[in-house]
Amino acid sequence: MTDRRTELAANLAKVEERIAAACAAAGRKREEVTLIVVTKTYPASDVRLLHELGVRHVAENRDQDAAPKAAACADLNLHWHFVGQLQTNKVRSVAGYADVVQSVDRLKLVSALSAAAVRAERELGCLVQVALDAESQQQGARGGVAPDGVEGLAAAIADSPGLRLDGLMTVAPLAGPYAGRQQAAFERLMELSSGLRVAHPAANMVSAGMSADLEQAVAAGATHVRVGTAVLGVRPRLG
Ligand SMILES: *Cc1c(COP(=O)(O)O)cnc(C)c1O
Repeated sequence: MTDRRTELAANLAKVEERIAAACAAAGRKREEVTLIVVTKTYPASDVRLLHELGVRHVAENRDQDAAPKAAACADLNLHWHFVGQLQTNKVRSVAGYADVVQSVDRLKLVSALSAAAVRAERELGCLVQVALDAESQQQGARGGVAPDGVEGLAAAIADSPGLRLDGLMTVAPLAGPYAGRQQAAFERLMELSSGLRVAHPAANMVSAGMSADLEQAVAAGATHVRVGTAVLGVRPRLG
C-alpha cells in the first residue's frame, strides 16, 4: 500500500467507527446512514484510492474542480454529489456528471437544472438546501433557502422534467439561534423533512453533518453525512 492509501484507510476506519458508534447510541441501524466523502481540493488519485477502499459516494463543491475529476474517474462506480453554491452558468456542466445536486436553493436554479438534465438525458436527484439561519424568504450566507421557502422549491423540483426530489440538506449555521447548537439545528431539519414527506413521501434523504458534527446529525436522524477533513486531512486551501 502507498502511504496515502494507508492514511486514507486509517482515516476511513476512524470515521466508520464514529458513524457506527453514533448509530448504536441512537438505536439506529448502521445501514440507515450513508457516508459521502467530500473530496474537494483533493486530486482524482485520492478519489481512486477511496473507491478502492470501498467508498461509493463522493461530493464536490466547485464545478471547475469537480468536472475534470469526475471525468478522470468516469470508469469508477461512484455517485457524485454536488454540494456547493451553484451558478446557473455551471449547471450544464454539473448535470453531466452529478447524480445528486444537494444545494438547490432557488427557482431559477431548478429551471436551469431541469433544462440541463433533459438535454443531457439524465435524471438528477435534488435536495433543497435549507439555511436555518436565514430570515423568512431570504437566502443563507452559505447558500440555502429559509425554512418557509422549502415547500415551494420542493414542489417546483417535483414538477420539473429530468429532476427527482430526494430530500433536504443543511450545513449547521455559524450564526443565528442555532449557532453552536448543531443537534438542535439537525433536529429542526428533521422536522422540515417530516413535513416535506407528507406531500413527497419518497423524498426521504436528509443530508446533514460534517467532520465535526456527524454524531449530532446521526443522533437527529440524518440519512447521509458529508465528511471531508476527517477522511482526507485538513484542506490545503479554502474550499
Ligand atoms: C466541505 C464541505 C463538507 C465537509 O466538511 P468537513 O468539515 O471537511 O468534513 C460538507 N458539506 C459541505 C456543503 C461542504 O462544503
